[in-house]
Amino acid sequence: MSKELFKNKDIKINLKSGITIPNDKLIIAGPCAIEGYNQLLDTAKFVKAIGANVLRGGAYKPRTSPFSFQGMKEEGLEILKSVKKEVKIPVVTELMDVRDFDKVYDVADIIQIGSRNMHNFPLLVEVGKQDKPVFLKRGMSATIDEWIKAAEYIAIGGNTNIIMCERGIRTYNDYTRNTLDLAAVPIIKKETGLPVVVDPSHGTGVRELVKPMSLASFAAGADGIMVEVHPNPKNALSDGKQSLTFDEFEDLLISLKNGAI
Ligand code: PEP
Ligand code: MN
Repeated sequence: MSKELFKNKDIKINLKSGITIPNDKLIIAGPCAIEGYNQLLDTAKFVKAIGANVLRGGAYKPRTSPFSFQGMKEEGLEILKSVKKEVKIPVVTELMDVRDFDKVYDVADIIQIGSRNMHNFPLLVEVGKQDKPVFLKRGMSATIDEWIKAAEYIAIGGNTNIIMCERGIRTYNDYTRNTLDLAAVPIIKKETGLPVVVDPSHGTGVRELVKPMSLASFAAGADGIMVEVHPNPKNALSDGKQSLTFDEFEDLLISLKNGAI
């Protein structure tokens, strides 16, 4: 079924900034969560200067514990809007709830569906009826087939501008937060023709592993990476352990430009 939905569609994603997929490699970088204006502005300016072409930042955060920081929500979206305008960079941010659709649509260039919502069918149907590209993260316990079917839920509404994001799956591996399934990259590309971006930050949960897994992602044929970057990871309100410092992000991009992309 997926082949019929996606084949001959010539998936081409155009961001207003001039970035097109599959022509350009997506380097999506930014904090896990928007924590304040200066935090996002400093990060956006830095990652753009170094070579990122999309800024990430969550305003609505799907946290495991209800007592953890839940994101700045509407205030975070306002910050994202101002920073996007000031730095002139397209942005991706997560939509967790259909009730927030209009607010997220207003600022996002790419709408992210998080791992925990990959099976939220009403949400998938909703983003399938609108015109912005959808960034569909793989459910943490989803098979490849289930992930493709989630993309079909979006595509049946008419929107085939879907970017598939491999972000690791749960296994018995005890050294990493998730197990990054890089074989999914060529499989998804073959099965659907959709672009695939890898998130080695959530895929490993370990800062030191982000660079090797980024290089491996491009070797596997990925169309891009999404990495978490924070001005001061030790003080991050979420996912500090997997967030790169500015220096580490620069080091990663130097390595990527020296051959991987
Ligand atoms: C995120 O990218 O902000 C995020 C919450 O990741 P995931 O949905 O993959 O856990
Ligand atoms: Mn995160």
